[in-house]
Amino acid sequence: MIATHPFDDKLREECGVFGIYRHQDAAAHTALGLHALQHRGQEAAGMVVYDGKQFNAHREMGLVGDTFSSERIMSRLVGDSAIGHVRYSTTGETALRNVQPLFADLQFGGFALAHNGNLTNAMALRRELVARGSLFQSTSDTEVIVHLMATSEFHTVVDRMTDALRRVEGAYSLVALTDSCVIGVRDPLGVRPLVIGRLGDTHIVTSETCALDIIGAELVREVEAGEMVVLDDSGIHSLRPFPPSRQRFCVFEYIYFARPDSVMEGLSVYERRKEIGAELARESGIDADVVIPVPDSGVPAAIGYAEAAAIPFELGIIRNHYVGRTFIEPVERIRHLGVRLKHNANRASLTGKRVILVDDSIVRGTTSVKIVEMVRAAGATEVHMRVAAPPNAHSCFYGIDTPEKGELLASHMDVAEMTAYIGADSLAFISMDGLYRAMGEPGRDPEAPKFCDACFTGEYPTQLTDRDGDEPAAQLSLLAELA
Ligand code: AMP
Repeated sequence: MIATHPFDDKLREECGVFGIYRHQDAAAHTALGLHALQHRGQEAAGMVVYDGKQFNAHREMGLVGDTFSSERIMSRLVGDSAIGHVRYSTTGETALRNVQPLFADLQFGGFALAHNGNLTNAMALRRELVARGSLFQSTSDTEVIVHLMATSEFHTVVDRMTDALRRVEGAYSLVALTDSCVIGVRDPLGVRPLVIGRLGDTHIVTSETCALDIIGAELVREVEAGEMVVLDDSGIHSLRPFPPSRQRFCVFEYIYFARPDSVMEGLSVYERRKEIGAELARESGIDADVVIPVPDSGVPAAIGYAEAAAIPFELGIIRNHYVGRTFIEPVERIRHLGVRLKHNANRASLTGKRVILVDDSIVRGTTSVKIVEMVRAAGATEVHMRVAAPPNAHSCFYGIDTPEKGELLASHMDVAEMTAYIGADSLAFISMDGLYRAMGEPGRDPEAPKFCDACFTGEYPTQLTDRDGDEPAAQLSLLAELA
């Protein structure tokens, strides 16, 4: 198939990573871990396992459960150390060449790498590397790290990786596999999550605690911002290769992206979502008969809202779980259809009611338009939309897939215009201070915000070397792959 949107083969991705050092069931545990991380990327999954002699890899488009349940595939993934990756990118046709973990033979031996996040100077570095003779095999930003390591003048894997990472900008939580260790690294701002777990004597590094729970492993701690951890035969080693900087964890992980049963930076995602809902009720409460979540991601915030407002919580929209996320359909007219496929109104809890609808975020507004219309058609007398995020007016360049700025509803409409556009009787978003309060902070400190909140404020915590204002500064020349 020829890519329908060639320039959508971009570097922006959503991903989850998992790594395990020395366990007899390394591949099976990695498959389970990736399955728990499936919400972080549904398009492709991959795994590289080391068996003491060679690296065994499998990468495939599709869901983890479909790929890694095959006896034929699993029986080839021999070895006691493994890393894996789940991925979602916005391409119409995503080439298998971009599916991670990437693998290369470097001077010190085999090296596999899996990345969650997005580098903001990958294009600039790539141009420089290509000029020096590097031959790129993928369009993924992650490959830049491998080439920087290959051309580094240092010797050990840790030194080469440090050398490479000192040159990159942006967000990265990485897991890497060599013939003697698994490495986990988090960028100096700690934008994306990465945690360390333990299962008996075996250590694990992965994106979220839900990937530890699934294999019965316990959480040891977070990999800290700017920390590199090396899991090898002598245990677990912590290195601090980067100059200290203030952490800027992604607040949108709490709002939407992470699984609600995960714990991030010591905070339960579920509890934070409920607290955002409660703040929202305090900030913009309105008299109504029922609080209805937009499932699934709006549910915890709606519970929090209903509790704080003392208004009954009801399931008024039923989600069909057998369709992918709305965003996955690449074409606008199919995306509309996707919303209809995904949700249906439950008349029993809507007819004759004044409804407060709670969703976690408004991005393009497509979901809200459909849901409001659906709820009214089911007999609601009033529809008040409450959103558990501030207006998403800016694109994310750090690893959450969002449309270009112009497609974000809040980038070109104020709240009154958005209210009219989605057809609600009222619309309110949580304030920035309210969001920070829900995170246990006194408010947003404008001089030193605790989180990366660039998708709301436009204040990006790193340089955006590859961008020119709102436009991509450079494009790759792509080869459309025929399947
Ligand atoms: P939209 O219809 O474009 O306004 O999208 C809003 C819906 O998409 C909300 O219900 C969110 O749960 C969900 N959402 C928010 N951010 C993302 C994202 N980055 N990828 C996929 N879905 C998202």
